[in-house]
Amino acid sequence: MIQFPILNEDINVQHNFTPESLRDRYGRRIDYLRISLIDHCNLRCVYCMPLHGLQFIPKPELLTPTEIEQIARAAIAVGFSKIRLTGGEPTLRPDLIEIVERLAAIPGLRTLAMTTNGIRLPKMAHDLKRAGLTRVNVHMDTVNPERFRRLMRWGEVEEALAGVHAAQEAGLTPVKINAVVLRGYNDEDVAGLAALTLDNPWHVRFIESMPLGIQANEAIRGYVPNSESLARIEAEHGSLEALNEGELVGEARMYRIPKAAGQLGFINPVSEPYCDDCNRLRLTADGKIRLCLLTDHELDFRTTLREQGMDALKPLFVRAVTAKPVGHQLRHGIYPAQRGMSQIGG
Ligand code: SAM
Ligand code: SF4
Repeated sequence: MIQFPILNEDINVQHNFTPESLRDRYGRRIDYLRISLIDHCNLRCVYCMPLHGLQFIPKPELLTPTEIEQIARAAIAVGFSKIRLTGGEPTLRPDLIEIVERLAAIPGLRTLAMTTNGIRLPKMAHDLKRAGLTRVNVHMDTVNPERFRRLMRWGEVEEALAGVHAAQEAGLTPVKINAVVLRGYNDEDVAGLAALTLDNPWHVRFIESMPLGIQANEAIRGYVPNSESLARIEAEHGSLEALNEGELVGEARMYRIPKAAGQLGFINPVSEPYCDDCNRLRLTADGKIRLCLLTDHELDFRTTLREQGMDALKPLFVRAVTAKPVGHQLRHGIYPAQRGMSQIGG
């Protein structure tokens, strides 16, 4: 783990703050925590996980439901209000429902969402809704069965679609579908994915591939700027209507095919970095707070919690927020090597 120099120094950590006033050094309000529950997955997407050779986190090093709740409570005490569960594949955690129940009961939490590949949602969506989950993003890169098998490996497109429908029926809405576009795999399928929004109230969001860890070269080789995907969609469906006056909604620029029931989003971390508006920290399944997805700086919350107890977490969160880097360095060819996306939580 890289200890960012600033984490070791006596930096100007803020002491007098309220949950509403805490900002990082660049004036950004950080109120969104992504929690990775596990680094295992039941798929092997080309840009995310290799087929062989990955080492998984040993069970004693995974955060327990109690520890996840303790860290989330400390985050909310310093001003966080939104949590997203992710992985790896979060639905592989046998104690997922308990984790959702514990988090949903914390006063001050406004949204509790989850990102999943959807395969297990038909069995779990109603229980997740009952436990307090607000909504889900389902990851599905193409509606073409053969290309789904090539790109996401180990799964079938019908399974992901069944997950989307299960989320819709359970009221985990609006259902968002995430698609990473990779040249030679699914770059020709973006118009087909966009067509899902014609009759369904779903948000289909196209994500540029980012280089991380062991699969970085796959992401670089297959990178497709989202301007290209947008042009392909317009060639098929006509000019898109820009929503929100073209301004970012979270990390996405939103559009609509005229008269469509749903919306389209374009998430452009590589061609149009949105670091200036970044509002998030990430908690890995082994209890490290990662200050930026695309740099390797981490703070060890699990060891602090296990050795010093939960009172030590709040000051550590203030330190993490204060030390958050200004942004990623992809344009200089610098990207993180230590962990892949499945080991961080996208
Ligand atoms: N397994 C779940 C899933 O696939 O949604 C949750 C974890 S996955 C790491 C979270 C998100 O990261 C997915 O929506 C996937 O599209 C995205 N992702 C994975 N690797 C990526 C990469 N190299 N570049 C951009 N997005 C990536
Ligand atoms: Fe698994 Fe999600 Fe990574 Fe695909 S993107 S391999 S579904 S963790």
